Amino acid sequence: MNENNLDKPMNKQWFWHPKLPVGFYPYFDWPPKPKEIFNFVFLRWLQKSDRTIFLLLSFMTFYLLMPSLDTMSTLSFDWISKLIIRNLILFTIVAGGLHWWFYVKKGQDMKFKYDPHPMKKKSKLFSFGSQTYDNIFWSVVSGVTIWILYEILLLWSFGNGKIDVFYFKDGWFWFIIWFPLLQIWQSFHFYWWHRFLHIPIFYKLFHSVHHRNVNPGPLSGLSMHPVEHVIYFSTLLIHFIIPSHPLHVFYHIYWLVLGTVSTHAGYEEIWVRRKSLLQVGSFFHQIHHRYFNCNYGNPEIPFDRWFGSYNDGTEEIK
Ligand SMILES: [Zn+2]
Ligand SMILES: [Zn+2]
Repeated sequence: MNENNLDKPMNKQWFWHPKLPVGFYPYFDWPPKPKEIFNFVFLRWLQKSDRTIFLLLSFMTFYLLMPSLDTMSTLSFDWISKLIIRNLILFTIVAGGLHWWFYVKKGQDMKFKYDPHPMKKKSKLFSFGSQTYDNIFWSVVSGVTIWILYEILLLWSFGNGKIDVFYFKDGWFWFIIWFPLLQIWQSFHFYWWHRFLHIPIFYKLFHSVHHRNVNPGPLSGLSMHPVEHVIYFSTLLIHFIIPSHPLHVFYHIYWLVLGTVSTHAGYEEIWVRRKSLLQVGSFFHQIHHRYFNCNYGNPEIPFDRWFGSYNDGTEEIK
């Protein structure tokens, strides 16, 4: 790609967009393509990507920042207060850091930005009249709180034996494969509750808080109504049923919290010193934020193709 082209809009609708049509991942292609799936998983997992970062972070949290499972068998102020501080710091660094880079420092200007418009600074649509303050309020006061409650519930359940810990030695194959499978489970769960929240009455009551962000940024990812947060994080309850280790839970949590920050970034790439540092945005979901009635799922499972709500990004381009 010619770097100079990154400073010019690609068309009226989008300043920049990936190669279209924006497609689905190869998991459910028919006829099945095992080689493509293998290459896809290999490329995403064994190279620098959001997924590998979340995996590393899960290991760091479990081995360096967590008390023993025994300690967590009782709900005590000591470990819970540390957990709250750890999560607040992590969210501030990732969401705040990305927001600062893209929208405060304007570190890469418009390079790889999807929507040509800036964030809304003065709009009655948002709490406190500002997209940024609105997003911080709903993300932190509701989002981080409900995330922490789920995390405490799960860790405490591991600690007191309500969930049996599934160790690597109990079955290495399941231990490993459960990480990429979590993504598929997450996609399944996400599509159905998200579709449900688009029923007009629930949209108006709850989901509209998230959809104020027609042009989202990193802080918009977790900016939702508390009812939506409770449903969003309920995907974690799968660990009560399917054999898991706390590492799986942390990975799942980071995918939910930090993954949503990254996919709402509004930019496809973090571009530093004329190099791509990391792929972040999701153009597939950006289309959902702009047009509302399409792309309810995400690229893991092609529900939108099966149910006729797929917008591949090519229709409106002029
Ligand atoms: Zn929606
Ligand atoms: Zn969204």
